[in-house]
Amino acid sequence: MPEVAGPRLGDEWTFVTGAADLKGLPHPTVPEIAFAGRSNVGKSSLINAVAGRRALARVSNTPGRTQQVNFFAVDDWMMVVDLPGYGYAEAPKDTVAGWTDLIRLYLRGRVNLRHVLLLIDSRHGVKANDHEIMTMLDRSAVPYQVILTKIDKIGAAAAEKMRVATEAALLKHPAARTNVLLTSSEKGTGIPELRELILVLVAQQ
Ligand code: GDP
Repeated sequence: MPEVAGPRLGDEWTFVTGAADLKGLPHPTVPEIAFAGRSNVGKSSLINAVAGRRALARVSNTPGRTQQVNFFAVDDWMMVVDLPGYGYAEAPKDTVAGWTDLIRLYLRGRVNLRHVLLLIDSRHGVKANDHEIMTMLDRSAVPYQVILTKIDKIGAAAAEKMRVATEAALLKHPAARTNVLLTSSEKGTGIPELRELILVLVAQQ
């Protein structure tokens, strides 16, 4: 992961807690920005890239491993929240139901949640379970930004095509920001822009 220059999003990122159920969530004292997406979408890698750290969030080749809602304090003024990846077909059904419920409860009811960053793998585009989450966010009026990940895997022309297709799909989703951000944690693409965006989104009421 290359070091990327850009606006600083806090100097000190600290793992606070991993919540397996609602009781485990920390008190909602500071604004939160949550990262969500299908399992293996590249969420941990993107959080690490934004934080400028190699191993803050755990990157894994085993999809479905992140099953807790993980909270990272940025200095002491905001939290970045890493939601469990959804749509992992091989996990046991009751486990999936448990963490899907937790994602829904968190996304619908968190008073200090400012914005959701919804990650979509640029190779796959928006899938049915992404649409489900998006529809739920629309209904709960939780604003979200779609981010395409791993664009180094598909090349510039294909990434641009996917951006256009994804932005077209977003027209049906009123709580989504209309533009899509292209990123690669591997190459550092879009990371300064994402840091800047988080600073803007966290300041919104
Ligand atoms: P998570 O399950 O969503 O947290 O995904 P991870 O961050 O653990 O990444 C899943 C896999 O995709 C790992 O093998 C990563 O190395 C790989 N990966 C993540 N981001 C990128 C990227 O920007 N480019 C490439 N080529 N691979 C990536």
